[in-house]
Amino acid sequence: MSVLVVVECADGEVKKSSLEVASYGAEVAAMLGTTATAIAVGEATEANLATLGEQGITKVLYDAEPRLKDFVNNAYTKLIATAAEQEQAKVIVLANSNIGAAVGSRLSVRLKASLATNVVELPKVNGDQFVVRRGAFSGKAFSDVVLSGDRKIIAVKKNSTEAKHEAGKSAEVTSFSAQLADADFADAPTQVVMQEQTGGVLLPEAELVVSGGRGMKGPENWSLIEDLAKALGAATACSKPVSDVDWRPHHEHVGQTGITVSPNLYIACGISGAIQHLAGVNSSKVIVVINKDPEAPFFKAADYGIVGDVFDVLPKLTAAVKELG
Ligand code: FAD
Repeated sequence: MSVLVVVECADGEVKKSSLEVASYGAEVAAMLGTTATAIAVGEATEANLATLGEQGITKVLYDAEPRLKDFVNNAYTKLIATAAEQEQAKVIVLANSNIGAAVGSRLSVRLKASLATNVVELPKVNGDQFVVRRGAFSGKAFSDVVLSGDRKIIAVKKNSTEAKHEAGKSAEVTSFSAQLADADFADAPTQVVMQEQTGGVLLPEAELVVSGGRGMKGPENWSLIEDLAKALGAATACSKPVSDVDWRPHHEHVGQTGITVSPNLYIACGISGAIQHLAGVNSSKVIVVINKDPEAPFFKAADYGIVGDVFDVLPKLTAAVKELG
């Protein structure tokens, strides 16, 4: 019996959200008196996977099938389900990411497991039952749900737990094959087209985001947002009205009806902070708000607030970032 952690990798690196998930899984394993094994998905290197020992993972399973480099729903589901059967996993922990959301529900059906998404804390274990806390109503409330049954799947919300780092600890990396057939790749995308992004940073994965709202006055002023984003190595985003009037493309719109971001730093420039906007950004670690109206609602959700004109503040902020290197 073990805890199985699904670790997402891209370009050879373990994603930050998966480091958090690995630590979470290792803590659940310790609570149950067992060990945590990881199954890696995406493009990984053995050396990087071994470092998951620092998050408390004992063993990492990796299937080097080249077609698993990019996300394929059926193949990933079968891979993880096969690993769960092999490891007799009672608990499966994954990130509440696009991949986690897609495979979590399929795994739940396939493994007859109970599933909780958007989980923000470690479970309270009561015999065979787990009580887990989920974010609800766009992060405005929490609900405690009981997971029962032999198998449980927990999807952990990004930035809700810390990834621990015990330097020098290494996990054993073992090759693994789920005996995937061509039919398992029937839903593989034929082509992956990357959207144009400032500095090449993809918004859903970005650790730093600079975002603009109607206070930017027009698309001709977006170079101020892009300059700061480039200086920081950040992605750019915007509020819904900005993309509705085509100042920016729709794939940059964050919020309840757009993309959800969970960066370490979200800088909001000339955005009022409507509840529908906050729904997409409120799991950011640090929020900085620049707004000329001291009563703007966004300041209530901000860690740091600058009351000022974006046209005055942004060039100074960019110059300061460039000076710091
Ligand atoms: P505004 O509300 O117009 O705010 C502009 C801000 O800029 C103001 O606070 C102002 O003080 C400040 N400002 C002006 N000039 C300057 C300056 N020179 N310097 C500094 N600050 C300045 N919105 C989203 O963003 N995402 C969503 O997903 C989303 N989904 C929605 C879903 C529904 C069903 C509905 C009804 C609405 C949704 N909205 C969404 C819209 C949302 O309610 C707000 O209308 C929107 O977020 C406001 O955008 P904004 O802050 O850019 O503009």
